[in-house]
Amino acid sequence: MLRPYSPEAPTDFSRLENQSAFSAALDRAKAEIGRTYPMIIGGRAVSTGETMLTINPSRPAEVLGQFAIGGADTADQAIKAASAAFAVWQHVPVEERARYLLRAAAEMRRRRHEFSAIMVLEVGKSWVEADADTAEAIDFMEYYARQALRITDSSHLLAVNPPEQGGLYYIPLGVGAIIPSWNFPCAIPTGMIAAALVTGNTLVFKPAEQSPWTAWKVCELFWNQGLPDGVLNFVFGRGEIIGARMVAHPETRFISFTGSKAVGIQIYEQAAKVQPGQRWLKRAILEMGGKDAVVVDETADLEAAAQGIVASAFGFQGQKCSAGSRAIIVDQVYDQVTRRVIDLARALTVGAPDAGLHIDLGPVVDSEAVSRIMSYIELGTQEGTLLLGGEPIATPEGGYFIPPTIFGDVAPEARIAQEEIFGPVLAVMRARDFDHALDVANGTEYGLTGALYSQNRARLERARRAFHVGNLYFNRKCTGALVGVHPFGGFNMSGTDSKAGGPDYLLLFTQAKTVAEKL
Ligand code: NAD
Repeated sequence: MLRPYSPEAPTDFSRLENQSAFSAALDRAKAEIGRTYPMIIGGRAVSTGETMLTINPSRPAEVLGQFAIGGADTADQAIKAASAAFAVWQHVPVEERARYLLRAAAEMRRRRHEFSAIMVLEVGKSWVEADADTAEAIDFMEYYARQALRITDSSHLLAVNPPEQGGLYYIPLGVGAIIPSWNFPCAIPTGMIAAALVTGNTLVFKPAEQSPWTAWKVCELFWNQGLPDGVLNFVFGRGEIIGARMVAHPETRFISFTGSKAVGIQIYEQAAKVQPGQRWLKRAILEMGGKDAVVVDETADLEAAAQGIVASAFGFQGQKCSAGSRAIIVDQVYDQVTRRVIDLARALTVGAPDAGLHIDLGPVVDSEAVSRIMSYIELGTQEGTLLLGGEPIATPEGGYFIPPTIFGDVAPEARIAQEEIFGPVLAVMRARDFDHALDVANGTEYGLTGALYSQNRARLERARRAFHVGNLYFNRKCTGALVGVHPFGGFNMSGTDSKAGGPDYLLLFTQAKTVAEKL
């Protein structure tokens, strides 16, 4: 009997023993720096002679690990191994599959700071952000284990039709390509892998180029539980080469992807093309970008709103799909809220997050991110008024630091108000009134998250119906969805609205089989 699911509590860093434990975990992670890792296909280590490095974005010369990479032929080998393993894994009872997740969750809980410490080094998460990422990964495993037990035999939901006895079974799809983004390098891969495995599929997992070390740790965790060879294959390489082949392969049955709009669209098109020898229509589960807005009206608690704007815009350097990169404030309170947002953002500490708990913002993930974000900042100086930040922070070690950057009086149609920047850049917009603010909020091609700060009941109810996003929050920030509490996924160009961490998510990894027996 399992206890009911509830999300992991965040680590209480006000307790000194937790701070010491986290520091110790960072030291242990640093002792592992510089190792070489193979790919794992069918339980066997595979190296091709070619490797890719993963680095610390706070100190780019620090090579954290060297990872073997493969190309299209490696993808083919891994899909073959996953196909072979599927013959057996699909018939493993759901109770047994769920136990792998529960054991992995227990182990991750015991080693929680170790996973977090690796993210501090590999993608520059602050301690608090890294801790939340690990907690979410644990939640996904606990939650999906329970959901799989709930849905797999859903015969009790059928209407009775004597003398027939009905059955409704959610059976696996087959071999899945798991292609995540780097920005929740523990939680997102863990969630995608856990969902696909517990429903009986076998996988080829290719982490993002920026975060293979964290991804390796996640796979190791699953392998530690004794997962049969070939059920979870770990490959690595360039997305456009090995990832593209994983998508196109005729034996791939589904693709579970998290990443940018541009790549999501490519995958959607590629997955739709039926390849010679392919015997099914592939399913594509696509979680893409956002241009999320925090709306503030004149009735709001303005201090709470300013804090919510800053947390939403700058948490993890704005590198969240849910980041509140637009603040839309009604004219009457625009100046007051904007001033407070600037003050709060100015007080944030930027630096290498392994220096301690006091660092709020680490580096952005790589030099490409610096170039992209700086080109948007350049554009912002033409499209709005620079109110804070705007210049990269130079450090002796050449870390990729960009401070919180705020533009005011940005027009709704400006590119910095329409396009996902994926960095610590906030566009503040002035709205005539609440109706105008809501129109502006809905005025992009995305529809992932949004927040409204208001005390006006009629407006809250209007927003409940008309603010067109997958995850809407009232009087709180627009980031920080919890598994099982805020099923997560967006509308329009934000993806296929898969609602990860929700009661329907696992259905995406299954097909329903109806059986009727005349007795
Ligand atoms: P990205 O699109 O550059 O890469 C995502 C993944 O796709 C990586 O693993 C990459 O190697 C792979 N890839 C790249 N080209 C490919 C191709 N042609 N075929 C197959 N795979 C390919 O995105 P990113 O920079 O890793 O992540 C940031 C993006 O992810 C942002 O847009 C963010 O909003 C989005 N995101 C969305 C969610 C969500 O739940 N909606 C969550 C996190 C991140």
